[in-house]
Amino acid sequence: MVKSYESTRNPEIRASASEAVLKGIADDGGLYVMRDLEDKKVSINELLGKGYKEIAEIILGKMLDDFPEEKVKECVRNAYTNKFSREEITPLIQVGDNFILELFHGPTSAFKDVALSILPHLMTASYEMNNMKGEVIILTATSGDTGKAALEGFKDVEGTKIVVFYPEGGVSQVQKAQMATQEGKNTFVCSIIGNFDDAQTGVKKIFTNEEFNKELLKNNKVLSSANSINVGRLVPQIVYYFYAYIQLVDKKVISSGDKVNFAVPTGNFGNILAGYYAKALGLPVNKLICASNENNVLYDFIKTGVYNRNREFYKTISPSMDILVSSNLERLLYYLSGKNNALVKELMEELNSKGKYEITQDMWQLLNKDFYGGCVFKEDVLKTIKETFEKYGYLLDTHTAVAYKTMEDYKKETKDKTATIVLSTASPYKFTRSVYQALYGEAEEDEFTLMEKLFKNTKVEIPENLKNLQTKEIRHSHVCKVDEMKKFVISASEK
Ligand SMILES: *Cc1c(COP(=O)(O)O)cnc(C)c1O
Repeated sequence: MVKSYESTRNPEIRASASEAVLKGIADDGGLYVMRDLEDKKVSINELLGKGYKEIAEIILGKMLDDFPEEKVKECVRNAYTNKFSREEITPLIQVGDNFILELFHGPTSAFKDVALSILPHLMTASYEMNNMKGEVIILTATSGDTGKAALEGFKDVEGTKIVVFYPEGGVSQVQKAQMATQEGKNTFVCSIIGNFDDAQTGVKKIFTNEEFNKELLKNNKVLSSANSINVGRLVPQIVYYFYAYIQLVDKKVISSGDKVNFAVPTGNFGNILAGYYAKALGLPVNKLICASNENNVLYDFIKTGVYNRNREFYKTISPSMDILVSSNLERLLYYLSGKNNALVKELMEELNSKGKYEITQDMWQLLNKDFYGGCVFKEDVLKTIKETFEKYGYLLDTHTAVAYKTMEDYKKETKDKTATIVLSTASPYKFTRSVYQALYGEAEEDEFTLMEKLFKNTKVEIPENLKNLQTKEIRHSHVCKVDEMKKFVISASEK
């Protein structure tokens, strides 16, 4: 079997693509990276005229190089047939002189659907390929978006169960309703008395409980995770960078071979890293514009070469970007350092012990060749939403607005005329309260009422999956204490 992947921290720890998907994280705590990425070129001309699924088959075939061609096709078909509300899966919309790539037409109206729709199929395929039998139990702690997208992705997928914990009182009304009404015979949801950190710590404890894991294994069951460091989440995200480019060529905005920029609202650095992979695979990319909110660790990092998490944590109106340690950045460090695993290990140890590290001058120069960093705070986010709606009739969500404004700042600062695509990561209706506030000022009503009002005023359609959420049947109402989480997993595993 080809072992194309290795740990960012140790070249001796190797894995095939399917093993990397199953393991999630390497045994030494490093992330799996493809060593010879630059040898896997994709020809743009070969993609012209092709649709999302065909492009996905080509990209996934290159990156998941131990998957048989037929398996890749089957995974793509299962993930994207009739699951997205748009034929194109990720349509490209022109707004003024710019383009917005809408990644939110999946079953939960969040960009995480793109990867989480296919991850379960990649996992079960990997399971088979490695001659394993039994059941995979996915365990997730969520602050809102990931949990629902994972539930929808794994819903009724043969050979899997999905268990989600969220903090009681720590998610929005819409997010809570989304999870409480989840369908599927293999889905299990429990809110915990505590905050997100408590939920996450509880899940980690279960993962590292050897005795418990042994017990599960006796019954042919293993625990796994669906978080964004899994190769099976990263690789599917490369696809839409290529597809956005092909759509621009189709629209005759650019010719095949011209360069483009991408602006990405960034949290854990997974989405934008997929853009870096696309460039490595041969996509003509000029700049990757990395957009942050008040938690602007990445902005400072790109500017100075110093990554420093020792700072205040802000709760913002773009909560999915409220992150101080962007896990996937470790993969970029690996490539920027010329695949220097020892150096990556050192930097990660420094991050652990001191909360900060500094990259070399050479790495910093390479970083700035490919990336531009910007940050946008609340007041400007609200202003951007209002102005973009008034000027173009286009309604941005709070995360996408951060990227949109960063793109404008970049253009003003650099005078760069390259065609630019802003990645839109959520429907405005997922963050109704703040979007409504941007247009009409603060409101008292509950989120469902505001959704209706926002629709009446803007005429922007509410996604089907968010409509009538409050009248759907409640299927999950478990609440437990942190020390009861294991019991909940056991009962789920026995069903
Ligand atoms: C997860 C998420 C992001 C951040 O993406 P990363 O891959 O973690 O950088 C941005 N916007 C929304 C709406 C998200 O759900």
